[in-house]
Amino acid sequence: MHVVLIGPPGFGKGTQARHFAERLGIPSISSGDLFRAHFRDGTLLGRQAKKYMDSGALVPDHITMAMVKARIAAEDAAAGFLLDGFPRNVHQAVLLDGMLAVQGRRLDHVLALKVSTTEVERRLAGRRACQSCNLVVNVNFAPPRVSGACDTCGGRLIRREGDRERIIRRRLAACTERTAPLLVRYAALGILANVDAVGPVEDVRARILAAVPALAGAGA
Ligand code: AMP
Repeated sequence: MHVVLIGPPGFGKGTQARHFAERLGIPSISSGDLFRAHFRDGTLLGRQAKKYMDSGALVPDHITMAMVKARIAAEDAAAGFLLDGFPRNVHQAVLLDGMLAVQGRRLDHVLALKVSTTEVERRLAGRRACQSCNLVVNVNFAPPRVSGACDTCGGRLIRREGDRERIIRRRLAACTERTAPLLVRYAALGILANVDAVGPVEDVRARILAAVPALAGAGA
C-alpha cells in the first residue's frame, strides 16, 4: 500500500506514521529524517540541504527528489511505503506520481491531518528533541518526569535549530500555502481523507482508521 501523510509538524504526525506503517508492514519514510540522517552522515546532499533546513525553507525539489527516489527504490519499500513530510508541493507530487507510474505503482491514500493555526503555534513552541535518542516530546502536553531530560534515555532535551519560533511561523505559513494546492490535487484524484489531528494520539488514530479503514492492515 502506498500512503502519504500530510500535516503540520508537531502534532504526532511521525508517531501516527510509524504506527500505521508498522501495522501495514511497510516502511515509514520521513523526508525530514532522511535529510537529518544525510547531514549526520556528512553526505554532500546533507550539507546542501542543511542551510535550507536551518532557515525553515524547503530544500529545493531536485535535491529532495533525488533523495526520496533512492529511498523508495530500496527493497523494503517494494510493497509500499508511508511517506511523511513528502510531497510538500504540487511539483513534488507530480514527480512522485511519475516515478511510481513508471514502476506500475500509484498512491492509494493521502491522509491530511488538520489543525488550527493557533493550536499549531502553541504546540510547536513546546517541542523538544532528545539529543541522544532523537525522541521528540512536547513539554506543554507531556512534560518529562525530570525537567529537560528524556524519559526514555535520560538524554538532554533540546530545541532543534529548525524549531525556533521565528522559524516556526515561517514553516507554518509555508506549509499551509504549499499544501493547499496539494490537497486540491489529491481530492480531485479521489484519494484524500481529512482528519482532525487535535487530541490524544489514540483518538487521532481512531479517527484515521474511521476515515481510511484500509490502514488497519491485515491484523484488523
Ligand atoms: P520535517 O522534519 O518534516 O519538519 O522537515 C525538516 C526540514 O527538512 C524542512 O523544514 C525542510 O527544510 C526539509 N524538508 C523535509 N521534507 C521536505 C520536502 N518534501 N521538500 C523540501 N524540503 C523538505
